[in-house]
Amino acid sequence: MKIHILTIFPEMFAGPMSTSIVGRACQKGLLSIEPHNLRDYTKDKHRQIDDRPFGGGAGMVMKAEPFFEALTTLVGAPKEKKEGRKIIMVTPQGATFSQAKARELASYSELIFLCGRYEGIDERVRETWVDEEVSIGDYVLTGGELPTMVMIDALVRFLPGALGDEASAEEESFSDGLLEYPQYTRPEVYQGMAVPAPLLSGHHEQIRRWRRKEAFKRTYQFRRDLLKGRSLDIEDQVLFAE
Ligand code: SAM
Repeated sequence: MKIHILTIFPEMFAGPMSTSIVGRACQKGLLSIEPHNLRDYTKDKHRQIDDRPFGGGAGMVMKAEPFFEALTTLVGAPKEKKEGRKIIMVTPQGATFSQAKARELASYSELIFLCGRYEGIDERVRETWVDEEVSIGDYVLTGGELPTMVMIDALVRFLPGALGDEASAEEESFSDGLLEYPQYTRPEVYQGMAVPAPLLSGHHEQIRRWRRKEAFKRTYQFRRDLLKGRSLDIEDQVLFAE
């Protein structure tokens, strides 16, 4: 997968995107991440990226031209669709990012993230180029770089071969609509607190059932909204009847 990022702060990506699982995925050739400095696509000698908003008001707006120039270089004509490619505007006004969206984005061969700053990006960029707008939550950050890194970090876990254990991205919180069960490691007893007995039983079915029950309990306790409208399948009904 190839990821392009249009930003005025390409240096922000250097550390986080070359560390740990994302960094290893790049080294393995599963992923390549290329930040592009929007100032390289300006035409004036001050490399000006922003200007005052028409109609007045506080703050500055990112100009359309650097985005148009960069996107023309990267993809050609506006809205020229290519199978497997998606242009994403990172904005608090978009649909909220989720584990399902991370899985979906991991299926593309090319993603282009547009990072805003200041009051955002000239609307004509959205109208002309953007396939989808995505937010990472109902709060306002200073720029689109951190949201872009959040999305890359989440989607990379779905790239085949990126995680040591192939199954783990699918078993985690949200993947089956539940929070994950509690996890423990050595020692068996720490400061008087013991690891639950089923986990020490060595009995796979007992462990699986304990985990499933705990996942439901935890979801009910912390994120009851996730259970809304969910009906228990027969196996879960039996589990809860025990
Ligand atoms: N004036 C804009 C508004 O009210 O919708 C907010 C602009 S924000 C200060 C600057 C940039 O940060 C945005 O263009 C976007 O790229 C990014 N950003 C801020 N919060 C975000 C969020 N929750 N999700 C995704 N991107 C965000």
